Amino acid sequence: MSNPVRIQPDLQFVKDLQEVGGDTLKRCYQCATCSVACPISPAENPYPRKEMIWAQWGLKDKLVNDIDIWLCHNCGTCSDLCPRGAKPGDLLAALRNMAYRKVAEPAVVGEWMSSAKYLPLLIAIPAVIWLIIWIIRAGFLGTYFPLFALGADGHSWEVVKEGGKVVFGGLFPGDFTIDPIFTATFLFMVYTFYKGVKRLIASFDVPKTFAIAGAPNPSILVALKETVLCEIASHSKWKQCGEETEGDQQKFTGHLTLMYSFVALMIVTGVIAGAHWGGNILRWLTGASLGILDFFGHTPLNLWNPIKLLAIVGAVLFVYGIAKLTTRRLNQNAKKHGSSWYDWYLVGLIWTVGLSGIFSMLLRLANVPLLAYPMYYVHLVSVWMLFAYLPWSKLGHLVYRTAALTYARHIGRIPMQTKEEKTFVL
Ligand code: SF4
Ligand code: SF4
Repeated sequence: MSNPVRIQPDLQFVKDLQEVGGDTLKRCYQCATCSVACPISPAENPYPRKEMIWAQWGLKDKLVNDIDIWLCHNCGTCSDLCPRGAKPGDLLAALRNMAYRKVAEPAVVGEWMSSAKYLPLLIAIPAVIWLIIWIIRAGFLGTYFPLFALGADGHSWEVVKEGGKVVFGGLFPGDFTIDPIFTATFLFMVYTFYKGVKRLIASFDVPKTFAIAGAPNPSILVALKETVLCEIASHSKWKQCGEETEGDQQKFTGHLTLMYSFVALMIVTGVIAGAHWGGNILRWLTGASLGILDFFGHTPLNLWNPIKLLAIVGAVLFVYGIAKLTTRRLNQNAKKHGSSWYDWYLVGLIWTVGLSGIFSMLLRLANVPLLAYPMYYVHLVSVWMLFAYLPWSKLGHLVYRTAALTYARHIGRIPMQTKEEKTFVL
């Protein structure tokens, strides 16, 4: 007679899972249709059936250490075909949502992001920082009321302008406010991701049987290259496991567009910051300036500057992508699939970043300082929130999922593609 296996269910974990979106798991009766239906689940130890039973039994350790939750692309095929309406795809998404919040430290930030009641606190942190900076800067301009400066006559107040125009650098000088604050935020974000990825990889409980028979496992670098080029850049797995319904199309297009908009906007930020600080350092060292550095590094950029045009393209892609994803989420809600607060927080924040950025530019061009400066303030607050809280947000999956997929290739859980498959994908 074999030894009995003692199971220690974590009932609070089951409740937590139900709260973050895995609320239908109790309906599962283990028919395995989902594992068969999933187009990308491996033959050996397929998901998501096993995760459903682990979740029903409250086996928290097995689930949070399960690398397979990161292989799912949430296409929803398994949920659509489940005869019991148990939505296994939602369960895996809920598990990833829990992981985003717990893998980065301090974990309390993840808790704040999981409930609407903490939203004022999340907003207040950057709002106070930028307001203090704004008021201090206004003090240098002769007033502590942020929108006005002392006029040329020495006693009348004028709305802040430079050469008769709205110039955001007048109230928020890049060299002394925006650059140091966003550089510090960026470094904090990178460090938090680094620690989070290390914790995530260390947490995976990987069976030895995943080792590739008869061939050495690919190195981390080779696995990373294939993950980025053949999976992330083309979203090839999504093509394999969805893209049939209108909702799949919206999710695919929205996701891809949003990702490329981030790439465009990161290039813009990198070029402007590099040219600006390169020009400054050159001037300090030699007293000379280089036209090309000033052309790309002196803001506001001319409307026809290629980097400005790339920024506009990035902004348009940004709004298009988030509009697609919002439409899909609204349709999901209408069908009672339900999106959590965690999903809506990110969608709302991305809308705020995009619209405040576009309206800041339009109001600046229209030279309306009383609206342009407050709009720019909203933009700074929302951009700070996007980057500083990124490691705990759903958008953090760009990093965590890339790391998990890379590791899964490295250990043989995802097979490397053949030459023919690569040609097909790319
Ligand atoms: S989730 Fe649905 S399809 Fe999957 S095993 Fe359970 S009942 Fe079957
Ligand atoms: S949601 Fe799609 S990728 Fe994820 S387990 Fe279900 S069928 Fe597979």
